[in-house]
Amino acid sequence: PNANLFAALRAAFPADLDAIAVETDNGLHYSWRDLDRASAMIANLLDGLKLEKGARVAVQVEKSVEAMLLYLATLRAGYVFLPLNTAYQSAEIEYFIGNAEPAVVVCTGRNAAWVRPIAEAAGTRHVFTLDDDRTGTLLDAAARCSDRHTVAIKKPDELAAILYTSGTTGRSKGAMLTHRNLLSNAEVLKDYWGWTKGDVLIHALPIFHVHGLFVALHGALLNGSKILWFSKFDPKRIVAKLPEATVFMGVPTLYVRLLAEPGLTREAVRTMRLFVAGSAPLLIETFDEWRERTGHTILERYGMSETAMLTSNPYDAKKGERRGGTVGFALPGVQLRVRDDGGKDLPVDEIGGIQVKGPNVFAGYWRMPEKTKEEFTADGFFKTGDVGKIDARGYITIVGRSKDLIISGGYNVYPAEIEGYINEMAGVAESAVIGVPHPDFGEVGVAIVIPKGGATIDADAIVAELKAKLANFKIPKRCFVVPELPRNTMGKVQKALLRAEHKGLFA
Ligand code: ATP
Ligand code: MG
Repeated sequence: PNANLFAALRAAFPADLDAIAVETDNGLHYSWRDLDRASAMIANLLDGLKLEKGARVAVQVEKSVEAMLLYLATLRAGYVFLPLNTAYQSAEIEYFIGNAEPAVVVCTGRNAAWVRPIAEAAGTRHVFTLDDDRTGTLLDAAARCSDRHTVAIKKPDELAAILYTSGTTGRSKGAMLTHRNLLSNAEVLKDYWGWTKGDVLIHALPIFHVHGLFVALHGALLNGSKILWFSKFDPKRIVAKLPEATVFMGVPTLYVRLLAEPGLTREAVRTMRLFVAGSAPLLIETFDEWRERTGHTILERYGMSETAMLTSNPYDAKKGERRGGTVGFALPGVQLRVRDDGGKDLPVDEIGGIQVKGPNVFAGYWRMPEKTKEEFTADGFFKTGDVGKIDARGYITIVGRSKDLIISGGYNVYPAEIEGYINEMAGVAESAVIGVPHPDFGEVGVAIVIPKGGATIDADAIVAELKAKLANFKIPKRCFVVPELPRNTMGKVQKALLRAEHKGLFA
């Protein structure tokens, strides 16, 4: 049997190939037959280039259905898809293309003038353009290709994609994902989240990242579900489309923006079955407010580029309730444990490094064998770099990243704990606690606090309130009130930037 992920996705297309598969926010309709034919044409184009086995197809384009078709075509032809964040500029593209040495680069018409020389310098032989209005040299060339194509035969361990991590904690690393990694995870989620006939997905996430490209897209395709496609996140238009949908996936900031829409009512979500959140921590406040407004409990899950999804709150109420502030249980097939730095398994409720193993765990970092070796234990578990705990019922809570952990006077301070207390205070919208160098304590905490619209808050009062509640070593030594936190396109708080900004505070 063929382990090519595309073969599994294609097999899940509904019998009626003329049914609508994708409806876009600018009024275009694509049938399942369209997806099949267009992906065949682009796959034939790639085949015609006579690329080497394992060749990478690097893609930095605006979100469009054609960009998704290029992903499907790359799988179909058996090459390795390598999506790049649309925000990256020349220095970043130079690094990624130089590092990945793709055989094919696809960029926007507008960027071609500077992307082409970078690609050629890295030895790329084929540069195409693709724009979000269905134009560009890629589609021109594909238009001359046959719309029939036999899916390339792949073994489970062959690479399907290289996904560069978001670069939240340092330089992005290329996570090598196999056909087995992606298909096994998609199958587990299909079952765990109860994907069913008649589901309709609102797809409003970027498609260069694990959340939008794998979790959302594979979910819908493997279930033969229609997709309501948004090229950009537009809260008003999304609320207007909710009555036609059953499933929505978003990063926490998208939920916050939807809550700001007066049109988000119980009536608007009447047809909805499931709201999924992840990629960054969901504030308890958002979780509660969403439940009050819509009657729906957001299902929070946890994963990363290297592993796709690892844990999920239960969909099925018989398995337990969805608990805000937690990321739920390890998914079926995923082994997850919490260990201390000495490699000892920790008991229930104790905080340590999260390690995972399973068919979803990646094949290693692209061209970083040393780094790959360091991040795996002798018994084959991947060290996620996240710090958390497991309670007696198996619910997992993430308390931060090991790189964000603060060691103050020899004591571990977990930023998420302090942030939790600050976020509960009057007038506070959210906060970030970071560690900065300190001559006596090694490191001390500094709190960056964002007020709710219109509220004025007093930084000293926040520190005083924390002092009444928490041990002294946990108290941030300084507190700043600022209008917003620096975030990347996935809504992740850029703590490294905050640390750099405040590193001289106690010098
Ligand atoms: P880099 O590895 O380059 O520093 P990154 O870890 O942000 O960047 P991604 O692979 O996009 O890159 O993100 C995975 C990380 O996102 C996880 O390791 C975890 O820290 C965080 N994350 C994902 N889902 C959740 C969640 N539900 N709650 C808290 N954190 C989450
Ligand atoms: Mg990471």
